[in-house]
Amino acid sequence: MIKENLEAVRATLPQNTTLVAVSKFHPAEMLQEAYDAGQRIFGESRENELKQKDAVLPHDIQWHFIGHLQTNKVKYLMPMVSLIHSVDSERLLDEIQRQALRFASERMARFGTSKVSVLLQLHVAQEETKSGFAPEELINLLSQTHISERWPNIEFRGLMGMASFVDDEAQWRKEFRSIMACYHDLINGPLTSQGIDKEQFSILSFGMSTDYQVAIEEGANMVRIGTSIFGERIY
Ligand SMILES: *Cc1c(COP(=O)(O)O)cnc(C)c1O
Repeated sequence: MIKENLEAVRATLPQNTTLVAVSKFHPAEMLQEAYDAGQRIFGESRENELKQKDAVLPHDIQWHFIGHLQTNKVKYLMPMVSLIHSVDSERLLDEIQRQALRFASERMARFGTSKVSVLLQLHVAQEETKSGFAPEELINLLSQTHISERWPNIEFRGLMGMASFVDDEAQWRKEFRSIMACYHDLINGPLTSQGIDKEQFSILSFGMSTDYQVAIEEGANMVRIGTSIFGERIY
């Protein structure tokens, strides 16, 4: 069933769209099934769960961390994670920088680079419970910070966001457009002027099972899909 679901989702994705299979709360056997069907990128939201799965699943899996990340958990992710989607504060960046140094040789051995790749999470939805930078806040932060001095071991790869949990396509579009607008403001402003170009800062991670087709129309090139592949989660 997972294989068929994966194939059905893949058939709807343009060539240049990266699929993150969101496997949180699903057992390792289900991830193995997706792996056997060719999937290599998996999204998890809790460090404990990621660790347990990493221990029993093939080592060429690329783990993406997509959940809210507390600073005290960063060190546990360092040996395993290839991309952190959910970086939502300055403090978290400082902690990732600290731990990137501590885990440099371990990460070099597994990933061929000691730098830690991150996406910056934007808060564009209506719900206050969601985390992320406000677009203005992020633009100000990156304008006022000497990026390569403060975070030399972090590779800034793009933006991540989530639309509101409403059944309203027009609302999703509006929110996705504000992610794209912020992306262009960053590229045309503080990033390019600090030597980070759109080759490096190229990932636009938005779109989930219900809204990913709209997300792709609005410019997403990485979608995070769980339910349509693995079915409903039992929390
Ligand atoms: C759970 C989750 C997803 C996947 O959601 P589905 O609706 O199951 O596709 C995507 N992104 C984030 C950040 C999530 O926490």
